[in-house]
Amino acid sequence: MIDLHTHSTVSDGTEAPEKVVEAAAGAHLSALALTDHDRLDGVAAARRRATTLGLELVAGCEISCQHEGTFHLLAYFVEPGDGPLQDELVRLQQARDTRNRRMAERLAELGLPVTYEEIEEEAGGMGAGRPHIAAILMRKGVVGSVQEAFDTWLAKGRPAYMDKERLSPAAAISLTRQSGGVPVIAHPLSLGVPEPALAGAIGELASLGLAGVEAIYGRYTTEERQALAGIAGDLGLVVTGGSDFHGSYKPDLSVGTGLGDLAVPDSALDSLRERVPA
Ligand code: AMP
Ligand code: ZN
Ligand code: FE
Ligand code: FE
Repeated sequence: MIDLHTHSTVSDGTEAPEKVVEAAAGAHLSALALTDHDRLDGVAAARRRATTLGLELVAGCEISCQHEGTFHLLAYFVEPGDGPLQDELVRLQQARDTRNRRMAERLAELGLPVTYEEIEEEAGGMGAGRPHIAAILMRKGVVGSVQEAFDTWLAKGRPAYMDKERLSPAAAISLTRQSGGVPVIAHPLSLGVPEPALAGAIGELASLGLAGVEAIYGRYTTEERQALAGIAGDLGLVVTGGSDFHGSYKPDLSVGTGLGDLAVPDSALDSLRERVPA
């Protein structure tokens, strides 16, 4: 079994890249993809640890795209360094920093005790985002959980939310392919598209070059996974899967097993590899 969707301290996970790899080895996985938001900075360290422990580390990242709902793209096999997507990631990281500053200002206006410096410190200097703000609010007793921080303050439409810069789906998919990567839609139900229209929406992304669908997602029911796998099959897309592990920010999700019932076969990675652009 494998896990193709995990976060580390490089973005908004609470475990270092090496620790995520160790958890994967502990779960007897044969391969792990590290998919931090907007960043490939954890890949080298994770791969060193994976080599020692005898499992494969797949380079990856997760990119937020423009959409009426939520559209996250997983880009696999994009290695750290220079390249079309890699260069765009640097720009997104700068935009994220500006957004964090604006959210800190907004939090101050709302009378909440969170400064930009505290957000940076919580994030360990890299990849700060809303889960870090949520953790600070929890530590200071403003909320009882990370989820409550989102529901009350930080989720889209709540008072402290600030929009962030996003690539168009077409640009994100095309840049991924130009960088030798394979683009997959993460947690497709977040699109917020009702079931009858989902095949059409994913079909449009397929026409832009999407290669796979994360049908086997940590939080999805068996029925949801089957429906998404059916759509992927009809469109000739690869069925992939992952836990979306974030450490203690999403304490119920484990590497490899998600809520306990996740099982992503090695064949998913083999099929993705066949889609690497020539
Ligand atoms: P950011 O990239 O700073 O906008 O934060 C995005 C991350 O926040 C996602 O990857 C999730 O981990 C988390 N997140 C976003 N929306 C919610 C929500 N409504 N409830 C809980 N966590 C959320
Ligand atoms: Zn996240
Ligand atoms: Fe996501
Ligand atoms: Fe994620």
